[in-house]
Amino acid sequence: MHPTDFEEAAHTGLTAPGGGLVSVRWLGTAGYELRCDGVTLLIDPYLTRAGYRRVFAGSLRSDRAIVDREIASADAILVSHSHFDHVLDVPYIAARTGAVVYGSRSTANLMAAAGHPAERVVTFENDRISELEVGPFRIEAVPSQHSPFALGRIPYPGDIPCTCELPMPGRGYRCGDVFNFAVRVAGRSFYHLGSAGLVDDLIPVGRDGVDVLLLCIAARFATPDFVPRVLRATRPRVVMPMHYDNFLRPLDRTMQLLPRTKFGQLIDDVERFDRQMVVRTLALGGRLDVT
Ligand SMILES: [Zn+2]
Repeated sequence: MHPTDFEEAAHTGLTAPGGGLVSVRWLGTAGYELRCDGVTLLIDPYLTRAGYRRVFAGSLRSDRAIVDREIASADAILVSHSHFDHVLDVPYIAARTGAVVYGSRSTANLMAAAGHPAERVVTFENDRISELEVGPFRIEAVPSQHSPFALGRIPYPGDIPCTCELPMPGRGYRCGDVFNFAVRVAGRSFYHLGSAGLVDDLIPVGRDGVDVLLLCIAARFATPDFVPRVLRATRPRVVMPMHYDNFLRPLDRTMQLLPRTKFGQLIDDVERFDRQMVVRTLALGGRLDVT
């Protein structure tokens, strides 16, 4: 499919081979809500967006009013890694919705500390690609890496231990293992890359590439040649950048870019790689319907 056809499909409701409508909603940071056939898949949902003081000097708790307002239901939650801006709200959302949570050992330890039933937590191994199905969604969890942006190191490295107690300060949310998610649904393919690191050879994208690349662009300059490498590995028709919003500001305030986002350079890098690739952004909370 030509990229302009994708845009056409997104706006006119053309029927895809698989039939069902896929709704993609950006929740801010690396968070997405994907819906198809009445099934809701969340990836890295972080709505609380705690301010600077609470993150760095206090204990973190979900803002339940905001989460309740934004998340109606969830059948499954995928967690790319266990930094607070990816996983903080997962225990509350899972408790309220009964969703199954998929993530690292570190995420599983957090869910156990929150009292989530063990039978509704699935732990990925960090040395292989895990395959799972959630309703119409076919998902591969691909081991990956976090951007080493803190003076060449990953911030808050290591695992959340099984002895952790909630609530925790921001620094308690250790990174744990990192995963990308390849999602196929209704004849469309998505690739979620929640931190700007990658293991090029592991990315399981066929020669045709993916329809939509959900791409973390924060702190990408710590990973050499990040943008061309990830484009080469995934060959997307549409690049949807994310995690560029200042997540220390509440959802209801005007969005600000994180420092060193360099959006113009991203556009240049994508165009230099392939002029046919489309860069598509969503507003905070914005939705794109793909059929
Ligand atoms: Zn992170």
